[in-house]
Amino acid sequence: MRYRPLGKTGLQVSALAMGCMRLPEHDPELAARVVDAAIAAGVNYFETTRGYINGKCQHLTAGGLKGRSRGLIVSGKAGISAETTADSYREEIDLQMQILGVDYLEFFQVGWFSLDRLEMITKKGGALEALDKARAEGLIRHIGFTGHDKPENYRKLIETGLFDSFTIPYNMLNRAYAPVIARAGELGVGVIAMCPVAGGMLSAPAPQLQALIPGGAQTTAAAALQFVLANPHVSCACSGMNTLEMLAENVETVNAFQGADHAQMDAILDEFAALGQQFCTACGYCMDCPSGVDIPGNFRLYNYAKVYGLLDWAAGQYAAMDPTKRAAACTQCGACEPKCPNTLPVIDQLAEVAAALGRE
Ligand code: SF4
Ligand code: SF4
Repeated sequence: MRYRPLGKTGLQVSALAMGCMRLPEHDPELAARVVDAAIAAGVNYFETTRGYINGKCQHLTAGGLKGRSRGLIVSGKAGISAETTADSYREEIDLQMQILGVDYLEFFQVGWFSLDRLEMITKKGGALEALDKARAEGLIRHIGFTGHDKPENYRKLIETGLFDSFTIPYNMLNRAYAPVIARAGELGVGVIAMCPVAGGMLSAPAPQLQALIPGGAQTTAAAALQFVLANPHVSCACSGMNTLEMLAENVETVNAFQGADHAQMDAILDEFAALGQQFCTACGYCMDCPSGVDIPGNFRLYNYAKVYGLLDWAAGQYAAMDPTKRAAACTQCGACEPKCPNTLPVIDQLAEVAAALGRE
């Protein structure tokens, strides 16, 4: 396993981290084996929270941890609300440690966090008091946050100096947080990149994306993981894994990765993104279609197929759409075309989408 510094914490984190929110809900024995095998393979970061998997995430993780926390970076997480107090947050920290069966947590993260909630945790009697007290008592060692707020807001949050790390989505198809990741590198804040395979989207074959990795990646999922790790400011790629096979594949990918020119990959992905902009930009001005066709939705799928080569994924999504929303439901009434600011030949392009993605 490869290890990287986790910001300024002094910790070395495994390049592959385990998101425990995908452990198999109905197979605790397998879940324990996956966690155990991950530890054996050198994975040392385990991201957990109480609510995931219908409240079973930390129970399932505990089965594999077997009380181990030393040498591991086990992370708990809890959201906040206007009602959260230092006492209620402390109860949550204690409860999560109890479920996980550990006597301390290397990390505790404020979940679903955003800049407009900063005051909620920093106010007198707020969650930060609980976190600071738990840290002083040795029950937690570091504080992070996770969420989906705007990149510029997360820049402001990491610049407060309150947080040792943050967890954000980052992958080949979503690079919105790249500037904040670079800023985190300057500040020494750890970056845990979640959704490296874009919620499974990059598990589907996309030859264009595999070709971005020097020598070509074996699979698109491998390319996706390697892209994330090629960013020197990313501490680790946090992947939700629910089988031993998936774990073994990811471990092999990380161990075999020789590094890549991240700037060069970014430049190519920028070209892909620009290509996508030449088609439908999803502005929605053409809607609503009297027949119910989801025009931007269909074009979005087709863009992924054309630009990134994600044809199988797009066809699967198309098949899962309500038939009335599919491109094939267009009656060619012509109401949409005059409304498109990009003057797209919507009717012809929908016919193209239906031919390319419709496989029934
Ligand atoms: S041309 Fe097709 S997509 Fe456009 S409004 Fe008419 S039915 Fe809807
Ligand atoms: S108006 Fe044109 S660019 Fe905008 S969503 Fe409709 S087809 Fe796409």
